[in-house]
Amino acid sequence: MTQTAFRPQLAHLTAAMEELRAKGTHFKLRVLDDQQAAVCQYDGHEVINLASNNYLGLTNHPKLIEAAIAATSVFGVGSGAVRTIAGTMRIHMELEEKIARFKNVEACVVFQSGFAANAGTVSAILGKEDFILSDELNHASIIDGARLSRATIKVFRHKDVGHCEQLLQELDSTSGHKLVITDGVFSMDGDIGPVDKLAPLAERYGAIMMVDDAHASGVLGRNGRGSVDHFGMHGKVDVQVGTLSKAIGALGGYVCGSKDLIDYLYHRARPFLFSTSAPPSVAASCIEAFNILEQEPERIERLWSNTRYFQEGLRRAAFNIGGINTPATETPITPIIVGEGRAAMDFSRALFDEGVMATGIAFPTVPEGKARIRAIVTSEHTRPMLDRALETMERVAKRMGILG
Ligand SMILES: *Cc1c(COP(=O)(O)O)cnc(C)c1O
Repeated sequence: MTQTAFRPQLAHLTAAMEELRAKGTHFKLRVLDDQQAAVCQYDGHEVINLASNNYLGLTNHPKLIEAAIAATSVFGVGSGAVRTIAGTMRIHMELEEKIARFKNVEACVVFQSGFAANAGTVSAILGKEDFILSDELNHASIIDGARLSRATIKVFRHKDVGHCEQLLQELDSTSGHKLVITDGVFSMDGDIGPVDKLAPLAERYGAIMMVDDAHASGVLGRNGRGSVDHFGMHGKVDVQVGTLSKAIGALGGYVCGSKDLIDYLYHRARPFLFSTSAPPSVAASCIEAFNILEQEPERIERLWSNTRYFQEGLRRAAFNIGGINTPATETPITPIIVGEGRAAMDFSRALFDEGVMATGIAFPTVPEGKARIRAIVTSEHTRPMLDRALETMERVAKRMGILG
């Protein structure tokens, strides 16, 4: 008997995949043959890589690699338990202290991923009687956390602070806790959440303020301290989530806030209580990454200078990189709006064949009719790489009728 035999119980899944194939949005995973780098090889094919979140090139920084090897030699490859049982290693505590100092907050808790940090935190700090006011484009991990909390979810229009206030007013006579939550940087459009306006608004209504800085960590604010630092909102955001999986280069997520918040999460956040902690090598790499944010700020400068250069080139070629019926990017995340799902996926595939890797993104990740490819430059791309990517994108888009 083969292990992959058709199972009639799962026929509906096969049918769903057939449907995606018919729509042209079914995908095969691209497999990276070497390191995550500005130029690398997927499926045996060399490409300029505009698809990763490795903003600062830290996934293969020699100091992070060295730290991982050293920690593995001394402490082994795994922690062996969840944090609350026997899996809290000294290096986990060192990482949490390091991040708390970096973010200038009382305390920090590290989770296995940014997803776990968001979902675990939102579901832990709110209950059935409470209310969540959430931007319509917030990340899936926030939405899942909100659903798990069983609180009532009120969605406000994207970055619409007035709409958020209206919802807060409507809830003014209710007794439940209220949480206002926004992404610091929105992952599909690259625009920045209005933390400077939402935080004072939350304060006026006595609501908890929470920011998900997954794409802002290492990118926005002084030395990459995130959107709260970018807007000078220190002390006004109760819960700051960040990721260790993107610019920081390794894996994990964290929550920063008061000592009591973090202690509460130690006792109540389910991914913390029921899922094993990160290997010591990961914690060691992350500690080194925060050193590098402080010691090598030129990486962040290069990231932003490459971003300006690349986005200017796209605008010059008359690509729609947001701002017309979609938000306008303000960060290295660069959406190139194509419209129809199949066209976006075809464009992405054609670019890959010509040596440029940029992910196609279609419904349901983005709204119907706003399919796109998403490009992210890093500090490690050189100008010749960006020039070649721009030239290729323009040529392929013209050939396919995406550009006139
Ligand atoms: C990527 C992302 C996450 C999840 O972070 P991981 O560490 O990859 O699990 C959470 N929120 C946003 C906005 C993200 O873009």
